[in-house]
Amino acid sequence: MPQPLASPPALSVVTPMYNEREAVDHFVARLRPVLDGLGLAYEVVAVDDGSRDATVARLLQLRADWPQLRVVSLRRNVGHQAALGAGLRSARGDYVVSIDADLQDPPETIGDMLAAAREQGVDVVYGVRTDRSTDTIFKRRTAGIYYWLMRRLVGPWVSDQAGDFRLMSRAVVDVLNGLPEQRPVYRLVVPSLGFSSAEVAYVRAERVAGETKYPLSKMIRLTLDSVTSFSATPLRIATWLGLLSFFICLALVISGLVAWGFGAVVPGWTSLYVAVLLLGGIQLICLGLLGEYIGRIYAAVQNRPQYLIGMDTADEGTGSVEPIELANHH
Ligand code: UDP
Ligand code: MG
Repeated sequence: MPQPLASPPALSVVTPMYNEREAVDHFVARLRPVLDGLGLAYEVVAVDDGSRDATVARLLQLRADWPQLRVVSLRRNVGHQAALGAGLRSARGDYVVSIDADLQDPPETIGDMLAAAREQGVDVVYGVRTDRSTDTIFKRRTAGIYYWLMRRLVGPWVSDQAGDFRLMSRAVVDVLNGLPEQRPVYRLVVPSLGFSSAEVAYVRAERVAGETKYPLSKMIRLTLDSVTSFSATPLRIATWLGLLSFFICLALVISGLVAWGFGAVVPGWTSLYVAVLLLGGIQLICLGLLGEYIGRIYAAVQNRPQYLIGMDTADEGTGSVEPIELANHH
């Protein structure tokens, strides 16, 4: 039986997995030698994000001869960022690395990250993608727009080539775990905290097996979360649009009155039609914008747990079983 870890490991590797049955064997086969070669106590926290395939069953099998592999299973699919949050709260290491399960982030880079953190004494080491040529054009374009937007909204400290492959010290992870925020977008929150950091370059590889678990709908959701969690600029845009249309309307009212004074008031169907549609459209967009923020305020007030942990192999056979934790209770 795997022994529970008496003292915290030096390193935790957190990996969210959603329907990664096809990738998980490749991932473990490549990650294990890297971690064993580091010569320190480590744990791998595989967070099953409510997979509907055999990911958990396979992880539990693999764990039989890799006791450092810990399986934390969420009750349902909550999305990459929330699953990452579950992993960060579960991780006990002095350093925590987050990495994707599809081998797009090379595990070998973990050693470089750890070395950079120790030698330079920094709290965060970002994995920076130097080459994304294996990503599809669509992925690169959409990512390009996303990071361009985020640098403008969040600030220049967001690197446009740093995703969620990074190493963080215990201090950073504790701050993240203590955030009262509902859906933190970690790749933006971490740089915004201002901890000392370094970068390690890597080449983004192709997904080893299976398909992307990030369809367009999830990308849009991530973008909306990113924008609304860092900026009220869209609301301000709504205000400016409102002001702009107000002044246009003012001019039109004056011209309408003048026309009325000259008795030339019968034609005007087109201008009315256009004005009504345009104003209606702008109003609906602004309402939608407001709704995005109000929906998030509502979720924050409800303060439901972002995820529930159904199983954590670290709880087995320890004698003192930790209670199943609620995500938002610190
Ligand atoms: N993932 C997850 N929950 C989701 C979607 C994705 O835990 O709802 C995990 C996925 O298993 C992978 C990582 O997040 O380990 C990144 O996803 P993916 O590789 O599909 O995204 P892409 O690289 O295509 O952007
Ligand atoms: Mg991927």
